[in-house]
Amino acid sequence: MIEENLKHLHQLIKSACQKADRTPETVTLVAVSKRHSVEKIREAFATGQVDFGENYLNEALEKQALLSELGITWHFIGHIQSNKTRKIAEHFAWVHTVDSLKIARRLSSQRPAELPPLNICLQINVDNEDSKSGLSTDKSLLLNLAREIDTLPNIKLRGLMCIPAPKSIQEDELATFTQMKVLQDYLNSNDFNLDTLSMGMSDDLDSAIMAGSTMIRIGTAIFGQRQ
Ligand SMILES: *Cc1c(COP(=O)(O)O)cnc(C)c1O
Repeated sequence: MIEENLKHLHQLIKSACQKADRTPETVTLVAVSKRHSVEKIREAFATGQVDFGENYLNEALEKQALLSELGITWHFIGHIQSNKTRKIAEHFAWVHTVDSLKIARRLSSQRPAELPPLNICLQINVDNEDSKSGLSTDKSLLLNLAREIDTLPNIKLRGLMCIPAPKSIQEDELATFTQMKVLQDYLNSNDFNLDTLSMGMSDDLDSAIMAGSTMIRIGTAIFGQRQ
């Protein structure tokens, strides 16, 4: 089942990439395994899925301990409380949900020296929703923050991430994701070299890939309903 779901998703990614005139290798599928068992993660890994996303730190740490022999690339995609940054800095390769200088500083100072720099994305509250965390879409605020973060030694700013509000028409999805691409291009025109846009889930991956997403995050369509 999981194998078929992954095959199907890779097919969807491939056809979205064809429409967008991109190669499928430019899009990484992050399998969101929150609230799913280690057995399911093993099953997905056995088919070649390497990147897994988790939202809840304690749950993630338990799974990582049970799966440590596999060589999984772990992504933290949940809300970050500042008292959790040490464990996040120690146990993940990527953090998608950084939205303040304070959190970035803590992650950098707590990243163990023997590990490569922690890859981070800045979460953008792209639809300006009260219910969601993330930075505003204001270009100059974002540039200033990115410049400060760029001075931190043990984290590497790779790009931007968003969780947009659901849209009923594809043009609206595309417009939102394009706004993210414009922000990335703006930073890159100011001496950054960001290669990552973490955006797109099951229902909007086509628009996300069209707009330049490089990481899509999908849970339910791989693993089924969460417990
Ligand atoms: C849970 C989650 C996903 C995956 O959601 P599904 O509906 O299970 O595909 C993707 N991104 C983030 C940030 C999530 O929290």
